[in-house]
Amino acid sequence: MLPKGGGSRPRATSDARVAARAKTPRSAREILSARMSRIRKTNTKPEMIVRRLAHGMGFRFRVHRRDLPGTPDLVFPVLRKIIFVHGCFWHQHDCRLGAKQPTANLGYWLPKLARNVERDHQSRAALAEAGWDVSVIWECQTRAPESLPALILALLKTDLQRGGRSRPKIPL
Ligand SMILES: [Zn+2]
Repeated sequence: MLPKGGGSRPRATSDARVAARAKTPRSAREILSARMSRIRKTNTKPEMIVRRLAHGMGFRFRVHRRDLPGTPDLVFPVLRKIIFVHGCFWHQHDCRLGAKQPTANLGYWLPKLARNVERDHQSRAALAEAGWDVSVIWECQTRAPESLPALILALLKTDLQRGGRSRPKIPL
């Protein structure tokens, strides 16, 4: 569905957000705006839920390590583990939230979402290559607070506890 008022040209540049605001009819603009606010990349609500829980469980971690591929959300240096907390729409999770498709500005959104997924794959591969054990907690999983602590615990179990796969020693 294309916005009225001559906004049919696909916009690939970063002013697409501004263009959407200016030219998209009100209802679509509201949807876009709600979506934009949900997909802020750092300190999102799902991420804060995971951080609070993990911290409360006694795990110590760094956040948003820019020196690592993909700027991981939670980094557990001692455990050599990384957790990304991904928004389902933004990172195209195979779930109800992730299946929602943009209805306006497709020329902007579709390539952008595809790039996100590609970047995720590349970051995970690079981190694994460097000896990190990488997991993802999805936004939809943070909406099940009763099972989230068990999930976090399972992801952060050390290899030693699991039975001793040796981990490469890489300086932090
Ligand atoms: Zn999901």
